[in-house]
Amino acid sequence: MKTTTNMGLLVTTLALSFTTFAQVDGVIHAAKVLIKPEQDALNEQTLVLENGKVSAIHEGYRSLASLGLADVPVYDLKNHYVMPGMIDMHVHVTFERDKKANPHNWLTYEDADYALHSIPYLKRTLDAGFTSVRDLGSNYKVIFPLKRAVEAQTIAGPRIFAAGNAVTATGGHADMHGYRHDVTEAMSYSLGVCDGADDCQRAVRDVIKHGADVIKITATGGVLSNTAAGVSQQLTDDELNAIVNTAHNLGRKVAAHAHGTGGINAALRAGVDSIEHGSYLDGESIKLFKKHNAYLVPTLLAGHTVSKEVLSNPNMPKAVADKVREVAPKMEKAFRSALKNKINIAFGTDSGVSRHGDNALEAELMVKYGMTPKQVLVSATRSAAKLLGQEANLGSLEVGKFADIIALEESPEKDIKALSKVAFVMKNGVVYKHKN
Ligand SMILES: [Zn+2]
Repeated sequence: MKTTTNMGLLVTTLALSFTTFAQVDGVIHAAKVLIKPEQDALNEQTLVLENGKVSAIHEGYRSLASLGLADVPVYDLKNHYVMPGMIDMHVHVTFERDKKANPHNWLTYEDADYALHSIPYLKRTLDAGFTSVRDLGSNYKVIFPLKRAVEAQTIAGPRIFAAGNAVTATGGHADMHGYRHDVTEAMSYSLGVCDGADDCQRAVRDVIKHGADVIKITATGGVLSNTAAGVSQQLTDDELNAIVNTAHNLGRKVAAHAHGTGGINAALRAGVDSIEHGSYLDGESIKLFKKHNAYLVPTLLAGHTVSKEVLSNPNMPKAVADKVREVAPKMEKAFRSALKNKINIAFGTDSGVSRHGDNALEAELMVKYGMTPKQVLVSATRSAAKLLGQEANLGSLEVGKFADIIALEESPEKDIKALSKVAFVMKNGVVYKHKN
């Protein structure tokens, strides 16, 4: 008898706590809504958002009363194109290139300077309709506190999936260059720098220990490091294998910065999950992408941005300017080849090289180089979510997914430039922007 009473009490308590916990964040009336990005957008739908997730989708514009709701905000997007929040798979939110800035600022900045400078970068990115970003290389002392501050809603920004420090060889693209030895010794943070398979295994463990959600490696040289080292393979096959095995065993994906053909193919053979840039990919690369079901993250906007800068910035170091002129023009051909051969492509800009908040300009370049607007939308939603390993939560607006929702003034399926006309941004059921 006593047991029954207690059970009854328990059931009542659970039911009560469940009722209080189920919080309806709002209802959206959408003229057009892209529920599944690879399918057609639906007309005149009502979306119900609860506890930060999509809880129901109804045909037509449903009133609160007909949904059994009261005192819930209704967002009128009856003149808008509604779609999942976009995902940028390659950003650096802790800095932004500024050719007019004093190039020696870094000698005076504390970590907190970088964190404070990042606040408007994050806000601009979110306002531009990017509700998730993957940060591929920022000082761990800055990026992880920023990620926590966004999660706590102390500052406004996209969800951050971050690598922290990149794993790189001594003198590699992500190491420090361009100053006398004692300066680089004093200023360089050694986290992520490694030589030899065992040491690179240690480095992967170390960056994960410091918070990495994903492992960023510099498989080849890079354009913007101040060293005339070209863009060929920098991590050896043994190092790449050790990195990928260790990362995968610890549940992390590997994103490989790679320009030169040999480095792209070596990284793919080792089993990396994505190639970032991929400027000199060839026929063998295409086969390896397919064999390993890997993704290309093209970052066309980075190439476009530095190609313009090299014409007008006499202070760009020669080592960098030479690589810009050599590598940036190759990115279009690589992208067209990946597209033609049906390689997985996930949207990524390398913002930080370009201005934060201009991320959607990448979409215009993707269309210019042969993608359909629909393919671009898929690359910035479903494909990006898959590469993040977040397909259960992100990348579409099916019931149960996170309420990361944006609205555009016009349809991007007609003109991709509409991706830059963002009128409404919701993340996790919370509205951050609503322009009427
Ligand atoms: Zn980058």
